[in-house]
Amino acid sequence: CGIVGIASSNRNVGPLIVDCLKKLEYRGYDSVGVAIVGKHGILIRKGAGKIDSVDEAKCLRCLEGNVGIGHTRWATHGPPTDENAHPHTDCEGRIAVVHNGIIENYMELKKMLIAKGHVFRSSTDTEVIAHLLEENARNNSDFFDVFRRTVRSLSGSYALAVVSVMAPGKIFFARKHSPLVIGLGKDVMFVASDIPAFLDFTNKVIVLNDGELGYIDSGSVYMETIEGKPIDVSSRILVVPW
Ligand code: GLU
Repeated sequence: CGIVGIASSNRNVGPLIVDCLKKLEYRGYDSVGVAIVGKHGILIRKGAGKIDSVDEAKCLRCLEGNVGIGHTRWATHGPPTDENAHPHTDCEGRIAVVHNGIIENYMELKKMLIAKGHVFRSSTDTEVIAHLLEENARNNSDFFDVFRRTVRSLSGSYALAVVSVMAPGKIFFARKHSPLVIGLGKDVMFVASDIPAFLDFTNKVIVLNDGELGYIDSGSVYMETIEGKPIDVSSRILVVPW
């Protein structure tokens, strides 16, 4: 299973995300999907199967935009179907979420969200995150604060990457008991499950610790602890051998 997120100032990231996901195939998976923040909102293509066959059938790499996230799924909650493949969205399709791990309190969150009128499309634990973000965004226009509050109410394990039309240009990330690293390129930033995903583009890396979250855009990284303490990003950058 794997996560890739790419924020670029000028490159079309659809083909890059697929190429980076291929570099994570060694981790094992049963489904694949990509979400891009395009000119007209978030576009998603996904399905059960191998990257090459889903890409051939649905052209994942054809999605156009400068910011996007991709995922390879190893099913834990719900069978490997097209509907259960990530990314998952909120009711309005204004938020897209990819997740590796298990949300242990998803049942209670799902019941609460259904009671508030949310309609679920998959049988995954992950989909609750998209709807919880949507719910928390109703009375909060600062999407990073929405993300932070949402992450604080999740229990279990997660590596997360999230995009939203409410914060175009940014990819939000969080890590607890599932690996996640940041790659710092020139006019392009990456978030991924492992360094080989982006090593063709950059060898400048930040390895996230459990309980760290933040966001990237094409030129910067912001990080803080889950308690809200800002992290000095520059002191965390490692240069790995090519
Ligand atoms: N628990 C999630 C699911 O079943 C994520 C699985 C994974 O780590 O790929 O969809």
